[in-house]
Amino acid sequence: TITDTDFVGLLEQAKALESNPKAEALRFDGQVAIVTGAGGGLGRAYALMLANLGASVVVNDLGGSHTGQGQDSKAADVVVEEIRKAGGKAVANYDSVEDGDKVVETALKAFGRVDILVNNAGILRDKSFARMTDQDWDLVHRVHLRGTYKVIKAAWPHFLKQKYGRIINTASAVGLYGNFGQTNYSAAKLGIVGLTKTLALEGKKNNIICNVIAPNAGTRMTATVMPPEMVEAFKPEYVAPLIGYLAHQNTAESGSIFEVGSGWIAKVRWQRTGGVGFPANKPLYPEQIAANWAKIVDFEDGRATNPNSTQEAFQSFMENFGNVAEEA
Ligand code: NAD
Repeated sequence: TITDTDFVGLLEQAKALESNPKAEALRFDGQVAIVTGAGGGLGRAYALMLANLGASVVVNDLGGSHTGQGQDSKAADVVVEEIRKAGGKAVANYDSVEDGDKVVETALKAFGRVDILVNNAGILRDKSFARMTDQDWDLVHRVHLRGTYKVIKAAWPHFLKQKYGRIINTASAVGLYGNFGQTNYSAAKLGIVGLTKTLALEGKKNNIICNVIAPNAGTRMTATVMPPEMVEAFKPEYVAPLIGYLAHQNTAESGSIFEVGSGWIAKVRWQRTGGVGFPANKPLYPEQIAANWAKIVDFEDGRATNPNSTQEAFQSFMENFGNVAEEA
């Protein structure tokens, strides 16, 4: 496991890189960033980093519990104070992301614009599906999926008008791969992936870039499932630099999914097997599916592809209409 001393060593290396005249720092001077759920955990690390690199930051946080109960202005205030003490520019917003228009309004009132939106706020209501209530389902969807939608919805007209915007949404490995006891959360998180991919397409011609990350970090949220040494080792500061990269004006990457944590970063994409095309002009029976099952699910036969758009994925279906058996 990584100790605090190791981590300080790593940060010192990073600082050395920063002061390296050959390495050009990615900065955000004159830009305005909204970070939701920035009163703690990952969001706090993003807000501190963006402010440190010159952005004016709206620190949004409702300040409730990790299960979404209560509210408190302290969470956001503490981070705003930290940023200001370090010489940065920040204001607090205490609204729920469900009131996305109020969050964006705070940016406009304080700084007159918005360039970067990091949707990060989140809660958990873990329960096995059999025990999950409608309230557990709805609250998690309202904060994660609807909250992400509402803040983007309010920022979008400004992004369109200025022909510029950078959005980073937050999914989870749990959304990509599933996890026992998290049907509500995994569904909402994969919903955010779909939202991201479509927004990347709709934003493209106006230079609005939208990506989604699945982070791993030790925070009060993961303290409920990780042992303390792991919470300590998985610093949110390992995740923040990817936000810095994706939020920058030089970034061309859009519509992509990244897993990030502990200093390790990777891109995730869909993979589809080569598939089996049955004659399109003949009836198809379940037993033919059974007879071809091994081939339908075979990723290793060298025919698997990675479709990168709905159009590309659709191609195989259209092509199969040309798959006509001679004796009909
Ligand atoms: P965290 O609990 O430390 O931070 C979440 C913050 O969001 C809290 O400060 C909370 O007050 C705030 N918040 C909750 N509901 C809100 C609302 N309605 N409006 C505004 N703010 C609200 O947790 P974290 O681990 O830093 O999580 C940040 C994001 O990363 C979440 O979306 C989470 O689902 C996601 N995530 C985290 C991990 C991880 O390993 N930590 C893994 C996968 C996904």
